[in-house]
Amino acid sequence: MVKVDVKYTKLFINNEWVDAVSKKTFPTINPQDETVITQVAEGDKADVDLAVAAAKKAFHRYSEWRMMDASQRGRLLLKLADLLESQARYLAELETLDCGKPVKTAEEEVYYSASVFRHYAGKADKITGSTIPADGDVLSFTIKEPVGVCAQIIPWNYPIPMLTWKLAPALAAGCTMIVKPAEQTPLTALAVAALIKEAGFPAGVVNIIPGYGPTAGAALTHHPDVDKVAFTGSTEVGRIVIAAASVVNLKRVTLELGGKSPLVIFNDADVEKAAQIAHAAAFANGGQCCCAGTRTYVQSGIYDKFVKKAAEIAQKRSVGNPFDDVQQGPQIDADMFKKVLGYIEAGKQGGARCVAGGDRHGNKGYFIKPTVFADVKDDMKIAREEIFGPVQSILKFETFEEVIDRANDSKYGLAAGVITNDITTAMSFAKFVRAGSLWVNTYDYVTSQTPFGGFKDSGIGRELGEDGVNQYLEIKTVTMAVPKMPQL
Ligand code: ADP
Repeated sequence: MVKVDVKYTKLFINNEWVDAVSKKTFPTINPQDETVITQVAEGDKADVDLAVAAAKKAFHRYSEWRMMDASQRGRLLLKLADLLESQARYLAELETLDCGKPVKTAEEEVYYSASVFRHYAGKADKITGSTIPADGDVLSFTIKEPVGVCAQIIPWNYPIPMLTWKLAPALAAGCTMIVKPAEQTPLTALAVAALIKEAGFPAGVVNIIPGYGPTAGAALTHHPDVDKVAFTGSTEVGRIVIAAASVVNLKRVTLELGGKSPLVIFNDADVEKAAQIAHAAAFANGGQCCCAGTRTYVQSGIYDKFVKKAAEIAQKRSVGNPFDDVQQGPQIDADMFKKVLGYIEAGKQGGARCVAGGDRHGNKGYFIKPTVFADVKDDMKIAREEIFGPVQSILKFETFEEVIDRANDSKYGLAAGVITNDITTAMSFAKFVRAGSLWVNTYDYVTSQTPFGGFKDSGIGRELGEDGVNQYLEIKTVTMAVPKMPQL
């Protein structure tokens, strides 16, 4: 077992490390062996009040942060990106310890996150309004201003990238923020907080409050001095968040929620390549991915060949100690472990044909065998509900018209994929699918420049790219009376 030094376990408020007001702590668990890694300060309402006050002060019109040149905000973001990369191995090991993802993947995620900070570093001094040819004797223009104090609530599946997707655009825009990492994975957000301080961000700009959703999270979503909530997590909690965000004031809200994404493979596809793409789509991050392509629709002409190949690839997927060179570590915690095994049981009971996996892996830790079900029907539980584990459902289809309806027959609309060499099929699919991201002959390709978010119950708003920063901006319209003919 690799020994990882856990350096930060307190709350980060106003660039200081502090205990919770209640002095309470909570354990964070290693999903590989179910042991307690360490105790972490447990934030609650009193701590949220302190963090919001710090963020509000840092947002005062004459604060160092508000008076800073936009280009300087960009320089701080670049510094943070460099610091992240300089600590990449350490952050990756800490992530693997807390979250169970393979350390190589965790390290790639740190470099990816640095690229997101760099993208938004370049954006900081390019946030511009417009001039408007308004009717009458006036001159009108818009100013884009930071929305204010933001609460950012993060999930456990990609702790550093999800933190980055929230922090980077908000910092580029000039907001201040309070972040609540998921209770399962608080450690890397705290380690990044130390780098934020080292990069030179003024006190109060970023505050990190580990704690539980119904306590710390709810205190943030209800707080009268919070102007915006950005949330990534389940659709169920997303509904609670948006309701809470409208109780005492009307907070701006962005939600990135669940999915049950279809990946549609047509007869003309190369079966080997298609099976590899579909495998990665379903099993990346142990299936703990909101845009996982877990409904694999395969056209009848290649269906049998595809099922055989998909089963073979899944059986070969290496599962084990995430500090070793494996493709899949444990699921995040005991609850998810039980929930995913419950779905596997429902698949078997429901009459789907289990062609790979179907059980836990080993007898310690939250490991699950990569599982493939064939002959899945649209109304089965495993075809309708988000499983968030290593389970692929393969469904057969005949025609384009049929599959587009079936692909869209979901309350979710986060992502979709299509595999074909026929440009008309691909573009027609892109046109008619109801999803926020559509990948053609690839899957889960998300860069700092490409907006990401959902249709329907998969969310509201977009993260990343130009759209991502717009979610942290208010538009102010300025109109001046200017006579058409000067009275000189
Ligand atoms: P997941 O399905 O990824 O576990 P959740 O939606 O349960 O997602 O949690 C995502 C984040 O939302 C976590 O940081 C969690 O603590 C937080 N959270 C859970 N419940 C609430 C709530 N009632 N209010 C605010 N945040 C919450």
